[in-house]
Order: sequence, then structure tokens, then C-alpha cells
Amino acid sequence: MNKLIYLTLLSGCITTTVAAKTIYNGDKIDGVPVITKLDTSDLASGKIYRFMFKGVDMNIGQSWYVPVMVAKGNNSGSKLLLNTGIHGDEINGSKVIQNIFASLNPKQLNGTVVGVLQASPNSLTHITRTWHLSTDGGFSEDMNRQFPGKEKGNTAQVHAYKLFNNLYLGNADYAIDLHTQSTDTAYPLFIYADYRLPAVQHLAELIPADQIKIDDGKGDAGALENALDKANIPTITLEIGEGRIYQPELINRAIQGINNVMIDNKMIKGSIGLTASSYNTYIANDMVSVRAQVGGYAEILVKIGDNVTTGQKIAIQRNPFGDIIKEYTAPISGKVLSVGTGATRENGGLLVRILTQNPDPKCKFGC
Ligand SMILES: [Zn+2]
Repeated sequence: MNKLIYLTLLSGCITTTVAAKTIYNGDKIDGVPVITKLDTSDLASGKIYRFMFKGVDMNIGQSWYVPVMVAKGNNSGSKLLLNTGIHGDEINGSKVIQNIFASLNPKQLNGTVVGVLQASPNSLTHITRTWHLSTDGGFSEDMNRQFPGKEKGNTAQVHAYKLFNNLYLGNADYAIDLHTQSTDTAYPLFIYADYRLPAVQHLAELIPADQIKIDDGKGDAGALENALDKANIPTITLEIGEGRIYQPELINRAIQGINNVMIDNKMIKGSIGLTASSYNTYIANDMVSVRAQVGGYAEILVKIGDNVTTGQKIAIQRNPFGDIIKEYTAPISGKVLSVGTGATRENGGLLVRILTQNPDPKCKFGC
């Protein structure tokens, strides 16, 4: 019903259907037109567009706006959605999308690329992974646990609903949601992918990531990746390194992978470069996080990508006087996927995450 507006012509009682179109509310922000709904099918071909998508309202009666770019190719073809900024302390993805759009030539593009640059502007202003709500004095919600959102909910839920229904749906055949690890922790180039869906596995393995976690989507309820997969839009979460900074090598490898996706879908010309198979990506179905059990200064004794064996010492923590108060060993053999980069860690803070192959048949699609 969202997609169609039914117009009833009273004279003769004839009912006809008209496709929903991009809705402009007439405003401009810094010269960029404001939209409340995107329908890329009604945009003229062969051009790159910029929009400000009007999200949820703030307590002060103003709105949050999401910058969006659309490259509408001269020829028909697949629709690829590139999304970033769901978490506000994750920056590498914005550079990836900016550089992809700088290189796209809409005259030679088949299909459409949508780039959503600051999906959660509230979180970006606070440089945090959560959306700050002002109700009842304020609290926070993880924006990547809200999808597909609620039409009548709190601001995080309503913002997610608007993004999902008025920006993403209808404008994507495939989607890549660009993230990084959180502040004070780091990933390599890493993918979460639901391997129950062959199209998702194919998408993931077009990218020369360091590691892929096979996932059944049950772990993170409300993640955009899972909500889009459920809406029959094959989606991966692409984690690009660590929070807050630009990491050129990882950014460039992510771009290479996204170019592979566009070449594979015949959206652009070219030959596919490094992929998971030629890059020798480590693909596994289980991961274990070793978290701080006390508060104190942490020293991580392994690096991302190291192979570790069960019982190997991987981290220590010291008290303010420098005494070692806790030692941590690997609970399982595998490859180091993530490390804590912040030197101070409190209970529950991530020290080391290990990706591992679990032979249990129940874990075929992820544990
Ligand atoms: Zn994230």
C-alpha cells in the first residue's frame, strides 16, 4: 500500500493507480532540495542528485535531515543501496560512499546507486553509537537495533521507520550497510552475512574482506541488515576498521569490493578484482568475545589477524599502581577479529574477539 496512491475518480467511480513519487516538501537546505520520500524510478536518467531526507522531528520542533546522493544511470539495471552513519562514531563508510560517487559516471551507469551518508544524524552529532532521546530527561537507543522501526514510537523508532519505508524500500535490490567497530575497539575489513541466503553469500564474497562471520541473523534483532534481508533485499553489514578515523587502506579495499559488486551486477564496466577467494578471506561461523572482568588498564597481547590457540595469554589488566590484577587467555582457537584499542577498560569492555570455525552442525549458518 505504501507504494501506491489510489486515486478514486468520483465521476464514473473508476479507480486507477499511480506510482508513489519522490515527495519534495518545497524546502531547501544550503541549496539542496528536501524530500520526505524517495522513489528513484521517477528521477530523470543520466544524472547525480543530492537530497536532504527529512527524518524525525526533535523536541524543539525542528527536524533531523539525512544527506542522500542518487546516481541514476542512463540505462536500466540493478538498484544498489549504500548506507552509512547508523552509528555516529563510525566514519570510514562516509569516505567510501563519497569516493564511489566521485567515480560514478551516470551516463555510463546501468541502474541506480543510492548513497545515504548520515543515516543517524543525532548519533553523529554526539559521536556515539546511540541515538539520544530527550524524553524523561534523556536516554539512549542503539539505532541499529530499531529496524524496521515503528510508525508511532519514540524518536529512534520513528526515524528508523521513516528511513526504512520512505528512503530504503523500493530503491534497493541489494544493500551494503557500512559500519566500523565502536569507539575504543577495532575490526579489520570484516563482513556479517546471512549465509542462508545465497545472494547474500555471493554479495559478501565479492568483497576482499579480511574476515567474514557467517550469520543467521538471529543475533542482532533490529539490525538494518536483518530487516532488509527479511524484506527480500540481500544485504551485508560491512565493518571497516575502527571508529572515529579514516583508514585509507581499508577504505580503498571496501571501494574495490563495492566496485566488484557493481561490475558483477553489470552496473558498470570493468573486470572484477580481488575477491574473498583470491584475497583468502577467513570465513567462519562462530565468535567469542573476551571482555574485561575488572576495571583497569588493559594491554592486549595479540593483533587483529593473529591465529591464537586455546589457553594462549591474550590480554592483561593493571590497577592504577601498575600491578597486574587480571590475565586473560584465549577460550578457543581461531583468528583475532577485534581488539580493544582504548587503554582503560571497565567490566564488560571488549578486550579480544576471536572468530572461529565451530564444527557443530547446528552452527552451519552461525552460532
Ligand atoms: Zn556500527
